[in-house]
Parts: sequence; C-alpha cells; structure tokens
Amino acid sequence: TATGGTGEAQDAQRIRQVIIIGSGPAGYTAAVYAARASLEPLVFEGSVTAGGALMNTTEVENFPGFRDGIMGPALMDEMRAQAERFGAELVADDVTAVDLTGEVKLVTDGEGVVHRAHSVVLATGSGYRKLGLEHEDRLSGHGVSWCATCDGFFFRDQEIAVIGGGDSAVEEATFLTRFAKKVHLVHRRDELRASKIMQDRAFADPKLEPVWNSEVAAIHGDDKLTGLTLRDTVTGETRELPVTGLFIAIGHDPRSELLGGQVDLDDDGYVLVDHPSTRTNLEGVFACGDLVDHHYRQAITAAGTGCAAALDAERYLADRG
Ligand code: FAD
Repeated sequence: TATGGTGEAQDAQRIRQVIIIGSGPAGYTAAVYAARASLEPLVFEGSVTAGGALMNTTEVENFPGFRDGIMGPALMDEMRAQAERFGAELVADDVTAVDLTGEVKLVTDGEGVVHRAHSVVLATGSGYRKLGLEHEDRLSGHGVSWCATCDGFFFRDQEIAVIGGGDSAVEEATFLTRFAKKVHLVHRRDELRASKIMQDRAFADPKLEPVWNSEVAAIHGDDKLTGLTLRDTVTGETRELPVTGLFIAIGHDPRSELLGGQVDLDDDGYVLVDHPSTRTNLEGVFACGDLVDHHYRQAITAAGTGCAAALDAERYLADRG
C-alpha cells in the first residue's frame, strides 16, 4: 500500500502509470476510467475533505441517473466504491508538493513520501469563499448554499438573500427570482461591481431588492436557516432579515497553490488547458473539474472532464510506448 513503514518506501520506488490528485466527481471519474484501462491509478483523496464539494451538501437532484435525487455524500460514496471496484488505489492523504516538469513526475504525500508516475491528473477542485460566520457550515444544505443552479429549485416561493456584488452574485440573484418570492441582494457598498447590463436587467426585476451598505453579521437557525442579522457598513446599526435561503456568491479559489511556477494558470489561479483536451502546458500532466472550470461548476461537468483527463492520460501513455 502507499502508507505504512517499509512498504511505503518501496512503493515510492515504483514508477506508476498515473497519479490522480483529488477526490471529487472529477478525480473519482478519472480513477474509474484509468482503473478500467488497467493503469492502476494511485488516487490522493485529501486528508480531511475526501469526496470533494458534494460532501457538504444534502440533496443532489441534477446528477443524471438518479430520478429521485441522491444525497451528496451518498453519490460520492458510490463514485469512490466504483473506482475501488476496478482497482484504483485510494489514499486519504494530501499531496503537499509536486514536481511535474520532468518525464517522471514526483508527488509528495503528507508523510513526506515521494511517489513517482509517468502522468498526473490534477483534480483538486476549487473552494467557495465563505463568510466565516458561525453556523455557516452547519446550515450548508439546510438553507445556506453556494450554488444557485444546484439549489435554486428548493426555494420556490420563499424569501431569500444573495450575498455579493460581482457578476456572479447578480447573475445568481437574477436566476433565483425564477423560484423565490423575493430576493434580497446584499452588498457591502452602495454600488455593484457587476457589469452595467447585468445590473440593469437585475434592477428591472420587481422580485429583486438591493440591500446596500450591508454585511451579514450573524446566521440564525437550528435545523434550517431562519434568518440573518445584517449590519450597516456605514452606521454599524444592525437589523434582522427573516429569510429561509442564503446564497453566498463572493467568489471561489481554485486549489492550485501547489502548481504555481510549473503549470500555467490564468490570472485567477485556474489551470489553463488546451481545450477541448485536458492537456496542460506540461507533457503528461492533465487537469479537470473545477480546478479548470470557472464557468459551469457542476458535478456532471467535473465528472465529464475527469473522464476526458483519464482518456488523455491513457493516450499519452500509449504514445510514449
Ligand atoms: P471537488 O468536488 O472540489 O473535489 C476536489 C477534492 O480534491 C477536494 O475536496 C479534496 O478532497 C481533494 N483535494 C484537494 N486538494 C488536494 C490535495 N492537495 N491533495 C489531495 N487531495 C486534494 N453540483 C451539481 O452538479 N449539483 C449540485 O446539487 C451541487 N450542489 C453543490 C452544493 C454545494 C454546497 C457545493 C459547495 C457545490 C455543489 N455543486 C453541485 C458543485 C459541485 O460540487 C462541484 O462542481 C464539483 O464537486 C467539482 O468537482 P471537482 O472534482 O472538480 O472538485
């Protein structure tokens, strides 16, 4: 195995066909494909967050194949088990360093052991920025959400708040007016960063109400979100906003900090690939899922590019002979 004593040191000597870093829909799908292609992938799942972003949610209703929906963690357990069934070796550890520039790629785990492979699939995803408030994580999937496309449907005829002032916040707020009775768009300043055209469209919607110069001071609710305390950023005064939905749209950060200086990234830190393939600027290094995609950010699109990355790696390995 990849962990434990002497076995560990020996294992690290072996040059693998492929190492997959990440365990969300992208990483596990890449693992299923790579394992079924007999590439015996070694998958680093992460020490705390194995399973990826869907481990923090409840019902997933838009992943094809589950007509009644499926709980996020249950979906990820299935993907994990499917990868394992075909022989993927799964390790609940973090990758702490990589050297991907050579023909043999070096991947260091949390214990400092260096693993080697001819190809690497990067699938570490991205993290949604949080407000950093008490109950935010606990109520995730119980009124608190980071994804309007995923969860908007659950808020039919309810009163909800969207936090943020950029394009994505305004886009999410506009989208949510399809379902909600009322959408409060809460922003720290008295103007939005979002583009003019998007703002014009948003403010023309009678269901959308801007809440200027305000930030969330507290989140309330036992089993479900029941309301927010808002603080005026100018006067410091607080007031209660009784909402049953809170969409946090203050941005996301790709988990690419290990890659800088080796793999080409865009200005926001997302990995650049040679679309429609998953090839990065480095031979034998492929990237997929939300680490690359800041546009669609769905489990199914992450799984789709995870599949593509495994197929790209397979072809690369076959071509090198
Ligand atoms: P992730 O799911 O983010 O997985 C990456 C994982 O890789 C990390 O979590 C971690 O376990 C691992 N990792 C990271 N760094 C390292 C490292 N250095 N070493 C080892 N492992 C590492 N999408 C839908 O389609 N439907 C929904 O209903 C839906 N609901 C959502 C609800 C919430 C609350 C959130 C946050 C997202 C939701 N999404 C939904 C979006 C969806 O979860 C993401 O688009 C998808 O999970 C992205 O997959 P990924 O594999 O690229 O990355």
